[in-house]
Amino acid sequence: MGRKFFVGGNWKCNGTFDEVKKIVNILNEGQVPSQDVVEVVVSPPYVFIPVVKSLLRPDFHVAAQNCWVKKGGAFTGEVSAEMLVNLEVPWVILGHSERRLILGESNEFVADKVAYALSQGLKVIACVGETLEQREAGTTVEVVAAQTKAITEKVKDWTNIVLAYEPVWAIGTGKVASPAQAQEVHSELRKWLQANVSSEVAASTRIIYGGSVNGANSKELAGQPDIDGFLVGGASLKPEFIDIIKSAE
Ligand code: PEP
Repeated sequence: MGRKFFVGGNWKCNGTFDEVKKIVNILNEGQVPSQDVVEVVVSPPYVFIPVVKSLLRPDFHVAAQNCWVKKGGAFTGEVSAEMLVNLEVPWVILGHSERRLILGESNEFVADKVAYALSQGLKVIACVGETLEQREAGTTVEVVAAQTKAITEKVKDWTNIVLAYEPVWAIGTGKVASPAQAQEVHSELRKWLQANVSSEVAASTRIIYGGSVNGANSKELAGQPDIDGFLVGGASLKPEFIDIIKSAE
């Protein structure tokens, strides 16, 4: 089953109005493979979503970086899935390690968010990944399996989920996982999906890699059989994001 290459750009909590418009201009001018070959989604901070949506080329889409775990209401500071749907934002990133580790989002809380966002019609980039301590303790596969299991307990239909494997030790550190290290975990995640969800879900779910991906290392990573794209932080704010998208070819 063909899995279309997916490249997400996570802008995190960065940028001014003018800087965001400059990034959009760079993206709009970039020569990239067609939508049949690669799906591109950029994720600005909430406040910039409307301007990015209005200026961005039509073959690229937008994602929010988070959303609330259930229907909106008296939850000061939160943004609901319904609001994103209302603004025609198709994607949301959930379970990013910065939210798991800094804001204390548990596997169950992330899974509840994924289930609720999907129920409202959003597509979800669900992030999993181990810390350096967990890798050194040899528990990488156990950790990502537990994070994925929590989602499978609450979600039956995987059609609108992209799974992002993002080792925490590689995020924003410049220490990219080697292609072999990333491939090993992606392959284990696919095996886990096959054993615990279904062969169809294992074959069709895109598992993308995130962690210090840049224009120089993306091509080799993209060549691995179980790496179906990237979630890119720092480099998604730079012109090299176009080179990363081109690694889909
Ligand atoms: C991320 O935050 O999802 C990420 C992968 O960041 P970076 O590319 O900067 O490591």
